[in-house]
Parts: sequence; C-alpha cells; structure tokens
Amino acid sequence: MENTEKRYYQPEAETMPVEQIQKLQSEKLVKIVRHVYDNVAYYRNLMDQKGVKPEDIHGIEDLHKLPFLTKADLRDAYPYGLLAKPLADCVRIQSTSGTTGKRVVAFYTQKDLDMWEECCARAIVAAGGSREDVCQVCYGYGLFTGGPGLNGGSHKVGCLTLPMSSGNTERQIQFMMDLNATILCCTPSYAAYIGESLAERGYKPEDNHLKAGIFGAEPWTEEMRRSIEKSLGIKAYDIYGLTEVCGPGVSFECEEQHGMHINEDHFLAEIIDPDTGEVLPEGEKGELVFTALDKEAFPLLRYRTRDICVLSRKKCSCGRTFIRMAKPMGRSDDMLIIRGVNVFPSQIETVLIQEGYGTNYLIEVDRVNNSDTLDVSVEIQPEHFSDTVRELAQREHALADAIKTMLGINPRVHLVAPKSITRSEGKAVRVIDKRKLHD
Ligand code: ADP
Ligand code: ZN
Repeated sequence: MENTEKRYYQPEAETMPVEQIQKLQSEKLVKIVRHVYDNVAYYRNLMDQKGVKPEDIHGIEDLHKLPFLTKADLRDAYPYGLLAKPLADCVRIQSTSGTTGKRVVAFYTQKDLDMWEECCARAIVAAGGSREDVCQVCYGYGLFTGGPGLNGGSHKVGCLTLPMSSGNTERQIQFMMDLNATILCCTPSYAAYIGESLAERGYKPEDNHLKAGIFGAEPWTEEMRRSIEKSLGIKAYDIYGLTEVCGPGVSFECEEQHGMHINEDHFLAEIIDPDTGEVLPEGEKGELVFTALDKEAFPLLRYRTRDICVLSRKKCSCGRTFIRMAKPMGRSDDMLIIRGVNVFPSQIETVLIQEGYGTNYLIEVDRVNNSDTLDVSVEIQPEHFSDTVRELAQREHALADAIKTMLGINPRVHLVAPKSITRSEGKAVRVIDKRKLHD
C-alpha cells in the first residue's frame, strides 16, 4: 500500500476517473471563459468577432466554439494585453526562449506558481523522486521556465535541490559526484553532453548515483533516450511544457515511458488539423491546442502550440487516468521542406543513432542554382579513428543511403572530427536553413 501511495504526488487528481476529470474540466471551463471575457479586452474582441458569448459555453463539448489564440496574438498583445489580473496580484514574469522569433512574456500569481510547481512535482514523483533524493537542476534559471519550474517542483517534493542552472559542465560533474545527485533535470542534449564528459573523465555509468533524469524542452528521439540511459546508467523520463501555458510540467512521463500524461485537471488538450483548424478525433496526428483551466494572471483559451503529436486515452499501467500525448517530434514550423519533401530533423537523428553515430550533428539546408541542398555533418566515433580515408568515404556513403531511405532525398554526409560540433547546454540548435538568409 505504502508503495503505491508513493507513486503519485497528488493521487486524488492523478488517478481521478475520466468522467470526473471531464466534469471538473467543464465546470472550470465555464468559469474561466467568463473570467477572461470580463477581464481581457483582447479575448472579448476575439470572441465577439466569432459571435460567441460566455453563456454559449456550458462545458467542454462547447470548446470548439471558442476562437483560437496563436503566438502572433501573444506578440500583438505584448506585454500586458492578455493580463487578466491587476499587476499588483502578479508575483513573477517568465519568458519563452525565443526559439522561433520574438519572445513572449507570461505572468503568474502566487496561485499560478503553486499550480505550475505542483505539476513539476508530479513529474518528479512519477520519475521515482521523493524527499530522499538529491535533485540536480541544470536547466537554465532566470527568464527561461526550465530552471524555476523544476526547482519549484523539487522543493515541493522535498528533494535536496541543487540549483545548478545550465553550463559549467566541470562544476556540474563535480557536484553530481561529490553530493551524490540521484535525479538529473536538463535538456536531453545537455544530458548527452554530461554523459560524454563523464566518460571522458574516466567515469563509468555505474560510478554515479543517478537513477533518473527528467529531460525536456526540446524534441528528442527514442534512440537518443536509449543512448542517454546507457551513458548515464539511468532511466530517462520525458517532460513537456511551454512558457505560454506555464512552463515544463504541462505533461510528464510515468514509468511506462510511453507518452506523457497531460495534467488534465489544469490543462484541456485538443488535437486539430493545422491547416483547417478542425478538431481531430483521439488517436489522429495533428497540432496540439491547450486551454488552461486554472490560470489566473495569464489565461489561455485554445492556444495553438504548433507542436505536432497524437493523444491517447489508452489505460496506463501506472494507474494515472490523465490522457497521454506522444513525444512531439518537432513543431509544425520545425519541419523543413527540402525539394518538396517534408523533413523533420528528428527523422535524421533517428537514422544517425541507429547507424551508430552520436547525438552531435548539424543539418544545413541551402539553395544552389534553384535547387535545395541538404548537408548532414556528424562526428566520427572513436571506433572509426583507425579508418583509412577510403573507409571513411564508404561510411559517408552508407550513411547517405540510410538517410535517403528514410527521407526519400539524397543528402551530402560529412563525417567530421570529434568535438567539432558545438555542444548545447540548453536547447540545441541543430538546423541551419540558409535559404531563409537569402530570401
Ligand atoms: P520557445 O517557443 O521560445 O522555445 P519555450 O521555452 O516555452 O519557448 O519552449 C516550448 C516549446 O519547446 C514547446 O512548444 C515544444 O516545441 C518544445 N518542447 C518542450 N518540451 C518538449 C519535449 N519534451 N519534447 C519535444 N519538444 C518539447
Ligand atoms: Zn502512466
């Protein structure tokens, strides 16, 4: 009994029967729509334009009547246009990392912060965390939500928290080893780098005390997960979130490692066709849309994340009833169109790892004589060091073939020297689209 209780941070919410979750969502939706209509002129205008009034919303079945909100709206309304509480009631501002353009800012009341940190606490407990753990947080602290979110969650669980922030890998390793860190929180690309750095210093995976990692904030493949698990000797859990909705902890993985449970008591998820806006049935792939049900300062109704994924209500063996979302393999705007073919960088990552290369790679796309070019650089592995020039050329060909089989287009592959590709301490930049520079 004791064991099962330990698996959830808030068991009542996390294992609530689905009908009850939906009833709760309906009640909260009616209230939040009224709150934003009455307090935020920007939303009132959007709803008026669509001809929908708060009294038309009786429950989640009416959600589709509400207008969407996009990142462009958030930029339009910058900085205070979507605020639903007086500034005096707000205690924190966080900001997106600006991966896809101008940053947006989000506001939090103390209640909003508590809700967000509880979501992160659920993720830590799902990864096996408890007050006995030493939780090393090396997501960036500051405006970026990664550090503050996991830091708050770690405190709520009662872990001994190491607020490292990102960077200074030497110090990360020293503290990890000296203070026996058991849980590591950072981006998957930084986790891979830490694993590589430990090996370089002669540490074996079993030399550290880590048991679990909570990695997110950027897309990563199953292949990358296995490679990190191996290098650190841990179980690697995915965590997802975005600043607009609160930050990390919108959804998190349980021990099943098969999709992330969305904290549905706080966030209502839909999948839509990104082209038509039509709501798609469960199980179909499309753009993820969130409605925040509890946020006071910075509410979001039907916010289009641009993340492409699939939702599943399939029963999970962990006992959580929250719907699961598949790993988003990139945003709709991460997708490259190369010679007319849709290419997600994650597809290339999958091939590289399957073919025995590491996670340090760079994809460059350009346009030469009106034709798109695709160059993939990846570092050679230690076992290739003794290869002849001819053998290396053969490897490049083999890899190009494997990528062509996956994508249907021919890349140029370059095997480059170890350490020549810049390591990431936060969100990795793995694609350079030079076509954008010429336009
Ligand atoms: P920015 O949009 O500037 O990167 P954020 O730091 O808020 O701002 O990043 C949120 C985005 O990061 C999400 O919309 C998603 O695209 C990506 N992301 C976050 N967690 C994950 C994850 N676990 N897997 C894949 N992508 C993720
Ligand atoms: Zn589960």
